[in-house]
Amino acid sequence: MTKLQFFGAAREVTGSMHVVEKDGYRLLIDCGMIQGKRKESYDRNRNIAFPATGINAMILTHAHIDHSGNIPTLINQGFKGNVYCSHATKDLCELMLPDSAYVQQKDLEYVNKKRLKQGKTLFEPLYSIDEAEASLNYFVTKNLGEKISFREDVTAYLLNAGHILGSTMAVVKFQEKDREIKIGFTGDLGRKSLPILADPDQIRDVDYLVIESTYGGRDHKPIATAYTKLVGLVTDAYNRGGKIIIPVFAVERAQEVLYVLNKLFLSGKIPPMPVFVDSPLTVKVTEVFNRHAECFDKDMLRFIADNNDPFHLDLVKYTQSVDDSKAINDYEKPCIILSATGMCEAGRILHHLKNNIGNPKNSILIVGYQAINTLGRRLVEGEKQVQIFGDSYNVAAQVTVINEFSGHAGQKELIKFIQATAKMSEGRLKKVFLVHGEEGQQEELINALHVCGMENVDNPGPGEEVVL
Ligand SMILES: [Zn+2]
Ligand SMILES: [Zn+2]
Repeated sequence: MTKLQFFGAAREVTGSMHVVEKDGYRLLIDCGMIQGKRKESYDRNRNIAFPATGINAMILTHAHIDHSGNIPTLINQGFKGNVYCSHATKDLCELMLPDSAYVQQKDLEYVNKKRLKQGKTLFEPLYSIDEAEASLNYFVTKNLGEKISFREDVTAYLLNAGHILGSTMAVVKFQEKDREIKIGFTGDLGRKSLPILADPDQIRDVDYLVIESTYGGRDHKPIATAYTKLVGLVTDAYNRGGKIIIPVFAVERAQEVLYVLNKLFLSGKIPPMPVFVDSPLTVKVTEVFNRHAECFDKDMLRFIADNNDPFHLDLVKYTQSVDDSKAINDYEKPCIILSATGMCEAGRILHHLKNNIGNPKNSILIVGYQAINTLGRRLVEGEKQVQIFGDSYNVAAQVTVINEFSGHAGQKELIKFIQATAKMSEGRLKKVFLVHGEEGQQEELINALHVCGMENVDNPGPGEEVVL
């Protein structure tokens, strides 16, 4: 008997974790960290909903923390199997897992100071930096399409998901006596024509599809719209003599923005000005990008073949030290500053916002998703006064949002992908399971799929088990 169980990212977006089981062999797809309210997430992350020792092996679809961030906990709790992933995913995890441990440590220093005063028990990080580094020893890398053999009757292969560098989908095959069962997992599904990445592959010949649904109820405008908006915004700020502050996520969005800016500089569509990349993690992640041309699309490869370096044009200046970071503040001419964290919750971006937010000549450009209760979200919602490091600041700089860089498929793209999977599975596809989406978004997608004649769609709840 083959069973599928949804432990995480079931009717929510974080903490991806699904288990498939056949005759005692248990394979885990992703082991993500739950992100949200601190106390609740802390308890759920610490108490993995199944015994780690019962898992034989794992597939990691991509390096994002909501898919990879609880692997060290799984190992601490006794998991001994291999973690299969793409080459780029492993290289990114080498940076991101220790960074996640470091962020937890910093965050808890602050929280525990408060809890100590209140006489409450103190939180401990889920894992240390050393444990995060040691977990990389369990990683085994595979090429796209290469067969992964777990057991004679359990195999899998990875496909390109086009979501972030190294992101993959997984097709898992179980051989039963008289039939085979194939399940496709999209992980996070990307979009066609994103800068840098090759377009997502198509899953085919499967009996079941487990697909993300982050934007199940929403569509994105085409990426070309982002270019037009960016040209207008950069030119306007330049003409005003202002600076452009862009909060970025260290993985993917930072490199996409850099590459796009470089293209716009080279084609003369925006005036030349320095671009400061002020985030040590982004600098290291960009080096990983440089090592993984196998993930690039044709445009990017052509750009490189024409003797261009997508991330190191003359105008781009990477800063490492705190002094270099501070020196950016003394630069008085128009410039672009990319800094992390992407939701303006911590990191050097806070200093740049503090120094520039009160000047109407400046622009703040939001290019990534901003969760509720973050400074980034407050800026997006047009608040006129915000708190930074405990002080109040007037928002005089112009705030612009460009959503078109989104790395997640929108509703139309999800429907297209599901329809193509059904078509290319020639009547084999029995059921579609929606994961990695809030309930409202999932319901909208289910309704839209019903309109297209796809009835067999479900959004399983946490812990739900399905016999295949
Ligand atoms: Zn992701
Ligand atoms: Zn995700």
